[in-house]
Amino acid sequence: MTVSEPLIAGVELGGTKCIATLARGRKIVRQARWPTQSAATLDHVSNALTQWYGDTPFAGIGIASFGPIHVDLHHAAFGRMGNTPKPGWAGVNVRAHFADRFDIPIGIDTDVAGAALAEGAWGASQGCTVHGYVTIGTGVGFGLVVEGKAVHGHLHPEAGHLRIRRQVGDSFAGACPTHGDCLEGLVGGPALAARALVAVADLGEDDPLWEQVAGDISEWTTMMILALSPQRLVMGGGVMQARPHLLPMICKRTAALLNGYIEDLDEAALEKIIVHPGLGVDTGPLGAVLLGQRAVTIQARDRMDNI
Ligand code: ADP
Ligand code: ZN
Repeated sequence: MTVSEPLIAGVELGGTKCIATLARGRKIVRQARWPTQSAATLDHVSNALTQWYGDTPFAGIGIASFGPIHVDLHHAAFGRMGNTPKPGWAGVNVRAHFADRFDIPIGIDTDVAGAALAEGAWGASQGCTVHGYVTIGTGVGFGLVVEGKAVHGHLHPEAGHLRIRRQVGDSFAGACPTHGDCLEGLVGGPALAARALVAVADLGEDDPLWEQVAGDISEWTTMMILALSPQRLVMGGGVMQARPHLLPMICKRTAALLNGYIEDLDEAALEKIIVHPGLGVDTGPLGAVLLGQRAVTIQARDRMDNI
């Protein structure tokens, strides 16, 4: 930490929980959480931030949100939630909620873009020019960073919804309401609950379902490696966190699928590319903080340019 790092409030808006964090750089000084229910959850968060601001004013706010969400600064819909299946949230302008209450810089991006940027700044992806962050939780999300910038184009990557080559003999129809058997439809929380014969939390490490899940994820990591050539692919989210034994299975199967085509990417090399988050459970909250820190930097730079 350097003395120049400002105090920032980060809001990680997840599909199931919302975490507000006050931090200086990667050092967390205060935190609060709420279940994500209706869009009224935003009132709980902004009320808490108002109280925090009264105690110790912070320089900016970062919002790392579930999506799809409009993240293009120059788009009229900037900060607005897109066509999310989460009841009551489609069309809500998350950024405007905070901008109406705080006259300080406010940054917003997807939760996975924030997480990827935080891993790049402080975690497992430091020094990488191309790196991604994957969450495998209730949903499957993917954020991609190239040369320090989260990739945005028409919208932002939604690679968790890619369809993958199915495992031989697996006829599970998939649980994604939009695509059925996309990756999220095969390995996200609701999919695992539908595929498992007992409660997911009670599945043993040696349950055959984990071979299926590792197989499905490996089809996807193989595509990501071939399409994007990442130097790091950080695997986070509730499923990866609760089931760390999946990671070596994924590295082994990805190596087998690549089949030596990229000559130096054997299993040992992939174990250095496909990794757990370096920031552990703080990746998401620090992702939001980083987005706020960037918003403050960008505004300061714009002010300098206008002098
Ligand atoms: P979200 O994706 O909702 O933001 P998380 O990343 O924390 O939240 O992931 C929550 C998901 O983690 C749950 O939907 C569940 O599928 C999964 N999970 C939680 N505990 C376990 C477990 N013991 N084994 C496998 N999966 C688990
Ligand atoms: Zn889908």
